[in-house]
Amino acid sequence: MQTRLYSPTPANLHRLARALQRGELVALPTETVYGLAAHALDAKACRKIFTAKRRPANDPLIVHVSGLRDAEKLAEFNDAARVLARRFWPGPLTLVLPKRDVVPAIVTSGQATVAVRAPAHPLARCLLKLSGLPLAAPSANLFGYVSPTSAAHVVNGLGGRIRYVLAGGECNVGVESTIVDLSVPKQWRLLRPGAITPTQISAALRKKGIKFVQKKPGKNLLVPLAPGMLDQHYSPRTKFALMTQLEKEADAPDTAKIYWQKPRGPRAANMFWLSACGSAQSAAHALYAVLRQVDTGGFKLILCQPAPANAGALAEAINDRLTRAAGRR
Ligand code: AMP
Ligand code: MG
Repeated sequence: MQTRLYSPTPANLHRLARALQRGELVALPTETVYGLAAHALDAKACRKIFTAKRRPANDPLIVHVSGLRDAEKLAEFNDAARVLARRFWPGPLTLVLPKRDVVPAIVTSGQATVAVRAPAHPLARCLLKLSGLPLAAPSANLFGYVSPTSAAHVVNGLGGRIRYVLAGGECNVGVESTIVDLSVPKQWRLLRPGAITPTQISAALRKKGIKFVQKKPGKNLLVPLAPGMLDQHYSPRTKFALMTQLEKEADAPDTAKIYWQKPRGPRAANMFWLSACGSAQSAAHALYAVLRQVDTGGFKLILCQPAPANAGALAEAINDRLTRAAGRR
């Protein structure tokens, strides 16, 4: 199968919307990472996502919609979910809620809940609108590998496996959406940290007088359906570990070192960094591009410095991804 990049011209956007209506897969940019989209109510189309990504069937998909009205057709909203959707959509917040019957089992891996989100990226919104469909879209990469934040990343992993890629530049945020489970009455639970922070979520609920309490997670935030399966995720192929203080100083040319912030002094060939200025925002934006670049640099080992403590919730989201990248193999 030949993979083609489509620039976002009106004619191409209409062409890609029709492809989605026919049950084809289209990779498209969102503000978090590139997604691999399919008609969410077409089980056959959604099955193609799992095949193209080599994604296990027990890892459910996030369904993308234009807004709350369309989301309510797929999921049973409660007051808290409506408040959060109104406050943070369109944006990088995914809500897990009881599903309605129209959502095929393949989307939710047979679970009674569905994950929904309204993306903010104008091109994702455009394809939602032109197709008139809810779009199931996990990250547009091979399962387990570093997520894609550019069209080139998508082609790199899925080239030859999908036909359509909408080329829309780099993703702004750079890490996957915050996932919040609201399927249990009167409580909410963070399943995956992201750009929308637990503090923002609590504040939004409090402001509207909604009495949902945050159920604190255990050590493993993202609750995998097959236990242990997602301990390793977002991983480069090269051996990858978090950098300790000692390793920060040591030097071996076949070990790549990714610093949180650009170090002072001359740059060695094995030196990389996530951010020039040290902000979590710029580090998140660059994270997956840097991991991919270093992964193809011929190194034996990659050491990555985690975000400093108390650098905010986005820094925690980055550390969550780095910890998973370094996870059990
Ligand atoms: P992604 O691969 O970034 O699109 O994210 C998909 C992730 O969303 C899955 O790996 C799950 O962790 C989470 N997810 C999707 N649907 C559900 C659900 N019904 N319940 C809990 N988590 C979900
Ligand atoms: Mg993914």
